[in-house]
Amino acid sequence: MNRRDFHKHMVMLGIGVQGSSAMGKSTGERKQVGSYYQEPSKKLPIRKFDVVVAGAGTAGVVAALAAAKQGAKTMLIERKGYTGGTVTEGGTALHSFYNLWKAFPGVKKRQVVRGIPQQIIDRLMAAGACSGHAEMVRGYNYDSVCTAIDTELYKLVTMQMLDEAGVFIAVNTLLTGAIMDGSRIRGAIVDSRSGREAIYARAFVDCSAYGDLAAFAGADYKVPNDYACCNSIGLANVDLDGYVAHLDAHGGSNQLAYGVRSGQPGKVVRFNGGLGGEFQKEARKIGMSSMITTVHDNYLMFVKCNFKVPGSVINRDDMAKAELEVRKRQAKAVELFRKYVPGCKKAFMARTSPTLNIRRGRLITCDYDISHEDVIEARHFDDEVMVYGFHDSAPRYQIKNGGTYGFPYRALRVAGIENLLASGMLITSDHRAHMSTRNTVCCMGQGQASGTAAALCAAKNCGTRELKYANLREALEKGGVYFES
Ligand SMILES: Cc1cc2nc3c(=O)[nH]c(=O)nc-3n(C[C@H](O)[C@H](O)[C@H](O)COP(=O)(O)OP(=O)(O)OC[C@H]3O[C@@H](n4cnc5c(N)ncnc54)[C@H](O)[C@@H]3O)c2cc1C
Repeated sequence: MNRRDFHKHMVMLGIGVQGSSAMGKSTGERKQVGSYYQEPSKKLPIRKFDVVVAGAGTAGVVAALAAAKQGAKTMLIERKGYTGGTVTEGGTALHSFYNLWKAFPGVKKRQVVRGIPQQIIDRLMAAGACSGHAEMVRGYNYDSVCTAIDTELYKLVTMQMLDEAGVFIAVNTLLTGAIMDGSRIRGAIVDSRSGREAIYARAFVDCSAYGDLAAFAGADYKVPNDYACCNSIGLANVDLDGYVAHLDAHGGSNQLAYGVRSGQPGKVVRFNGGLGGEFQKEARKIGMSSMITTVHDNYLMFVKCNFKVPGSVINRDDMAKAELEVRKRQAKAVELFRKYVPGCKKAFMARTSPTLNIRRGRLITCDYDISHEDVIEARHFDDEVMVYGFHDSAPRYQIKNGGTYGFPYRALRVAGIENLLASGMLITSDHRAHMSTRNTVCCMGQGQASGTAAALCAAKNCGTRELKYANLREALEKGGVYFES
């Protein structure tokens, strides 16, 4: 069938070929206006939910699970074909379920993030897809445990959990707009191969990392561009014990944890694999970090190649150039491992991320902005929805006395929008504070808080600012969230 016949055939079937789809019929004019093309308007089919979560990544999965567990009819919108986001693509391990007790002698060891994030870990453990909370025996002034995951099984396990909870999972679906009613979001617009749809809900949670929903809704934001991007490699066909033995023979590694690997407890699951010399010199040129974690005998889970994007991480053309540059760096990284690292002569690239991973995209303005002092002074708040005890810049910045800081509910409320919460890397303006709040386990905890709050708001048909903190706190405690006594 040629293009003309295809067009005729589709029209006979009642399906528009350009500017419309089976799910959204075009009406009105389509024409060129100067150097612009005027799109025709469309009638979009409407779907109705209580809660819509944008982005099925680190925070979004937990937010959707939390909302569904409260009984909310929940839709989760994800542009990729799987759940998990940067947890499955970023690096190292899930930081961190515990306080930094070992760095502060006498401080009590405690698991400070529990609830749904821990339920995910339990399911991963049952599937043989997690190292466990493996205690750090070296490098414990940086982190107290190493929780490494099988990134592929994380996708499966979280999708199964969402399915069991009754979440409507819309993967391969891009959120492309917001329908506003004053300062209230009426609906989200999504595009997929099933067409363009309007998704109505009472409460919304933006977990898209880029803050797409908040930006479409007209929220205030900045784009700080204060981090390097990355695309990490899964390097397979390596002899991990050979690599570790070589490091031991040359002074050992400064980070070490033993946990479950290939089903066996007591195995090395984390080490700092820097070899010095030529390897290190070349690695530096491609922004490569040699921190290694794994849950498999013959696999280096995340070898990270970093690159600071000149321009903006929300500019398509800047990012296209960066995607190419990082792919070149990845190829070089494999070459370096083969050449210099014992046990890696036959290594190959078994996994990369489908797109570059950002450490920050848009920074969305919320009712409260967590400060550096809040974090390191271990401050607590009268509306806190979780506590957290890890700082990625430790030992330079640590949370006072190996304790925790509280995460206030108002830090999740998007300023100026009545029914939108945000969770994940898209909040916290101070880079130093963000080096704590952006970590996976913190994002997951935020997800449980915002999903729970969104469901309560939807049930009470109220805005996020009208929700009574006492009700939210009670629901979070019932959901297993830990608070300091
Ligand atoms: C290279 C790297 C290494 C890291 N290392 C660690 C580490 O060792 N330990 C640690 O704890 N943290 C680490 N982090 C930080 C941490 O992984 C992230 O900050 C955290 O996972 C972010 O979670 P999130 O939910 O905000 O975003 P994500 O997990 O990225 O989720 C966002 C989701 O939204 C989807 N999405 C975006 N836009 C749209 C749209 N318009 N429509 C539909 N879907 C959309 C995305 O596809 C994605 O699935 C690392 C980050 C990077 C980049």
